[in-house]
This record gives sequence, structure tokens and C-alpha cells, in this order.
Amino acid sequence: MKNAADKCNGKEPYFTQAEAEAVCANLKSIAKRTGQGGRSWRRLHVYACGNHFHIGRSNSHALLKPLPAKKIPTTGELRRKLKRVEAAIDGAQRHRAFLLGQIIERDRQRDYQAALDAIGR
Ligand SMILES: [Zn+2]
Repeated sequence: MKNAADKCNGKEPYFTQAEAEAVCANLKSIAKRTGQGGRSWRRLHVYACGNHFHIGRSNSHALLKPLPAKKIPTTGELRRKLKRVEAAIDGAQRHRAFLLGQIIERDRQRDYQAALDAIGR
């Protein structure tokens, strides 16, 4: 155990994030098991302070942890995505052409029948 002089603003410093995370996880498991402190263990987290880390509950500390940057797809990924969209468009256009062909064939049959009827056959 460190003495009071080793503490930073009365808080235990940890010199690696891994060590602080391990201690934090242990504190959470104790709090969960014993029920001591209600549900405030949910806000326990590790935060950076200078060249070391602390475990704390202050909500303002959470701002120190930056959110992971939104991943922008690579050019290759975007090109493959575009290819899939274009293939889908091509398929829809082929189906449209097929349906137009069927409409034309239907009209041709109807006109042929009308011509036969006109000449009395
Ligand atoms: Zn500190």
C-alpha cells in the first residue's frame, strides 16, 4: 500500500492503464457482489491524469476518453459496393426490358387477332 504522499489529490495513481483497468474491474465485481454503493459501480471507470491513471466516478472524466473515429471505407470497398449497386440496377433494367418485350408481344397478338376478325377469319 502506498502512503498518502504518493497519492494525487487523495487518489491512488496507477502507472499503466492495464493495471488501473484490472483494479477497476475488481472494484466493480466487489461492489456488485456486496451491493455496497448501490449501482454507482456502473460509473466507475479509468481516466488519464498526466502520466498516470486513476479510477473514479466523475461523469466529466468520461469526456477524456475519445470515441473511436468513424471508419471511412477504403476506395476498394467503395468500388466493390458501387459494383453491387450497378449489378442490381442492371438486373432491374434487364427485367424491365423483358416486361416491355412481353407487353409488345401481347399488343402484337391482339392486333393480329383484330386483323383476323376484320377480314372475317
Ligand atoms: Zn493524478
